[in-house]
Order: sequence, then structure tokens, then C-alpha cells
Amino acid sequence: MQKTVIKEKLLGMTQAELIEAAKKCSLKAFVGKQLSDWIYKKRVHDWDQMVNVSKAARQALSEMYDLGVEAPVGKALSSDGTKKYLFSVTCPRGVADASGEIRYETSAVEAVMIPDEDRKTLCVSSQAGCKMGCKFCMTGRQGFHGNLSAADILNQFISIDESEGLTNTVFMGMGEPLDNYETVAKVIDILTADWGFGWSPKRITVSSIGVLPTLERYLKEQKCHLAISLHNPFPQERLEMMPVQKAYSITEIVRLIKQYDFSGQRRVSFEYTMFAGHNDTARHADALLKLLRGLECRVNLIRFHKIPDFPFESSSARNMEVFRDRLNENGLICTIRSSRGEDILAACGMLAGQHQQQ
Ligand code: SF4
Repeated sequence: MQKTVIKEKLLGMTQAELIEAAKKCSLKAFVGKQLSDWIYKKRVHDWDQMVNVSKAARQALSEMYDLGVEAPVGKALSSDGTKKYLFSVTCPRGVADASGEIRYETSAVEAVMIPDEDRKTLCVSSQAGCKMGCKFCMTGRQGFHGNLSAADILNQFISIDESEGLTNTVFMGMGEPLDNYETVAKVIDILTADWGFGWSPKRITVSSIGVLPTLERYLKEQKCHLAISLHNPFPQERLEMMPVQKAYSITEIVRLIKQYDFSGQRRVSFEYTMFAGHNDTARHADALLKLLRGLECRVNLIRFHKIPDFPFESSSARNMEVFRDRLNENGLICTIRSSRGEDILAACGMLAGQHQQQ
């Protein structure tokens, strides 16, 4: 861990904050509006591209602030077109010491661009590592290395080759987004604001294992879709795979979600990774039907992608189909999600920030 003095970044600021930043440099408020236009609409990577901001203004801004757009430090392309990007991030750790200095730690995080017929979805990371420790997940193995800032998250959108063509995003990369809720909420504001990316909330899905206090806030405050990592309908069995079950039971999570309306534009889905013999039986399907009864939702079955030192195997394709059919026949919409990017370790549960391990 090193002591670093870090300049504030403009990327990740709201328009109101950009206006304040301009004022701090003795510039007029309209410069703040020009900044949001250049950063979020035109997605520039460098000060010189802001041609309608005077040289003197750019100079004053760059002395006090970093733009915040940083190129990925690595890329990998899958045979199926999926592309994984690696970023180096510097996150604050803990609180300031007696001298007021904050300690920072540099980590690696990943984002995955998944192309489909008419879509380009970006799976983004919200934390370096993760506290939740799900046993089947490579990110969980590394432990927690810090919350990403709004700049770190938005940089995943802005600095990649496909930035202009992105159609959707899922907060399903490294980390638990609802454990970094304030920042994720700010990123959603910027993605959906007219002065920002101008995206509809329908293009955004936040995936969570169900951190109840912030899940409740998310449901009240946001209009974006929700995906819950369910993986087992039996609390005791879920606990064996997901330590968070002890604090936030799946029964309570579903009870909370059932208080909200998902018959309109906002959708809720449940992610269900299939482990042979552990959660793919008729007993599990029936318990899942019972748990989700009355909720307008969808279940996505995901093949388990093998990771080192974890003994479980994925359910067979046949067992996944039988499980899916049992849910569908009983009125619960269920699909098998195709695996993408497995050859570049970009599929669900495989993200680990590879350059740290080399
Ligand atoms: Fe964290 Fe999600 Fe991995 Fe669980 S599955 S350890 S919540 S990143």
C-alpha cells in the first residue's frame, strides 16, 4: 500500500459538480456545461479535444483536475466476439490517518463487452475484489480491495473501443454494486441524465446478491432493472455457497422484492448458476416455484464455469433443460443463458483481474 496524492477527476462528476469545478478555477458556469458535453456526450479522451473551451480555461482546469479518462491496460478477444478489458484502478483504503492522509491501493478490475445481434452490452465492475466471498466466484476469492469511484466505473464505458455503440449495461462484473450503492446511484444518474449519456433506465440492470438495506433504497430510488443472484432456494444450502445468506436471507430478499411492482417497464430477474447434484433437482425447482410464486419475474439459468480448487461441476445441458421446462410448465418464465467469453475467462464467476496474478 502506498501514500499517494491524487487530483480530483472531472469524470464521475455531475453537471452541477462540473459547474462548481469550473467556478473553483475562476471560470464561468457555462464552462461546466461544456465539460459535461465533452466528457459524457462526445466522450473525449483528452483536454485538447475540447475545442470550444479556451486554452487558458483548459490550462486552469488541468492544473487542478484530472480529466479521468484512462486507457485500459489490457484487452482480450474471445472467439465468440466477447471482449474483456482490464483496468488499473487506485482505490482509497480505510479512513485518513492522523496527518489527514488517505492510503490508496492499486488493483486490477475488468469489464466485459458482449456483442449480440443488435446489442452491445457492457458488464461493468463496481468494486476491486468483493467482500461477499461466494465460493464459486473468482472475484470473491481475492477478497476486498476497495470501492471503485464514479470515475473508475464510467471510465469502463468511455475508454473502450465500443464506447459509442454500447446499447446496454449490467452491473454484474467484479464486486457487489449494492455494497457501493452511493457511487452506483451517481453513475446511474450520469448515465440517464439528459446532460450525461441520456440513456433510458431500461438499458441498465443492476445485479446483486441482495444487500437488504441498499436493495430497499435501490428499489425505491431507481427505475433500472434488477437481477438477484439466487442460486439456491433453500436458505441452509444457499448459506453453504454464499456466506451473505447469514446476514440477508433469500426469503427476506424475495419478501422485500414482492412489495414492488414489476408489471411495467422495470423488470426483476433471478440468476441461478447450475451445480450438478447441488441445486439442479426437481426438489430445488419446486422450492424455487414456491419462493417466487406471485412475482412477475424471470429466472436465468447459467452454466457453472469451472474455477480452480472448487469441487462442484456444472449441471449437464440435459439437466438444465429439464429444470427450465419444469419451471416454464408451472408458469415461471425461465431461460438458459448462453455462456459468453469463457475462453478468455470473461464468463460469469471468472473475473479475477488477471494481471495481478501474473
Ligand atoms: Fe462478489 Fe458477486 Fe462474486 Fe459473490 S458472485 S463474490 S457478490 S462478485
